[in-house]
Amino acid sequence: ATPTALLAGTGRGARMGVLIRGPEALERAHGIDTVVMDKTGTVTTGRMSVAGLLDPSGQPMDDESAAQLLAVGAALETGSEHPIGRAVVEGARETGLDVPAVTGFEALAGAGVRAEMEGYACMAGNPALMRDAGVDVPAALAAAVDAASSQGRTVVMVAASGQLLGALLVADTVRDTSAEAISRLHAAGVRTVLLTGDNEGAARHVAAQVGIDEVHADVRPADKVAVIKELQGQTGTGGRPRKVAMIGDGVNDAAALAGADLGVSMGTGTDVAIAASDITLTRGDLGLAVDALGLSRATLRTIH
Ligand code: ADP
Ligand code: MG
Repeated sequence: ATPTALLAGTGRGARMGVLIRGPEALERAHGIDTVVMDKTGTVTTGRMSVAGLLDPSGQPMDDESAAQLLAVGAALETGSEHPIGRAVVEGARETGLDVPAVTGFEALAGAGVRAEMEGYACMAGNPALMRDAGVDVPAALAAAVDAASSQGRTVVMVAASGQLLGALLVADTVRDTSAEAISRLHAAGVRTVLLTGDNEGAARHVAAQVGIDEVHADVRPADKVAVIKELQGQTGTGGRPRKVAMIGDGVNDAAALAGADLGVSMGTGTDVAIAASDITLTRGDLGLAVDALGLSRATLRTIH
């Protein structure tokens, strides 16, 4: 390959808002036939907000109980860097609540958080975390939570000394540029895949909104790269193995970004994701990733 053409390509990319880490990255982008995307912060804005609170019987809470649950949730999430944690802390701040102090904060990747509050061992996180910790979730709450999930809500259950206090429903918004980017990928014959640690209902809701072909939900951070490897083992266009790009923003996406044939990070994402990727999008617009694939095609055509 002529390095001059590739260098010119990376220069054009920079002007389009796509930072390409060296000429090899453009070559790696060539012939991608499968694009895997993280959900939160990639397909969605990742600016989440608290949209409701449920008591242990699955009913909406009265204002006083809601304020108490939100304060406990915010206390536990104070040390969290996750968009879900930030949303809970912000929700409590907006409501003007007094947030108690905690000790021994610990983030549990792909699950939630744990800390001690007033001597009680507390945690906030997804239903799987509660199950693993042996916290009893009443059937009525489980049903209410499933219904909220299928409407796209992410569920944060809160427990203190093994007792469930209730659930917070957190909402996210799909980026207004995502659906068009997905249809451009489909027009180019690319298969689209959503890969998320969030629940099946929320994942399917987002996939349907933007038209993504395939969904892998409830995937633990350590297992994301295994899904990439599995896709790479499948046969794609022209009987060749699939060539897979991964687009993500989180610490939990880093291994998948590095393991994919091409890693693409959101410039709005974490430093770890950016460092693990070949290409960084300077704006939170998936359309730029599609532009980058087109740029690679055009550049390599002039060479081969
Ligand atoms: P994603 O793949 O969507 O970026 P993560 O792997 O970061 O998701 O998290 C997966 C799931 O773990 C979240 O959808 C949520 O249910 C739970 N979770 C992770 N971090 C937190 C947190 N700080 N508070 C509550 N729940 C969390
Ligand atoms: Mg993310």
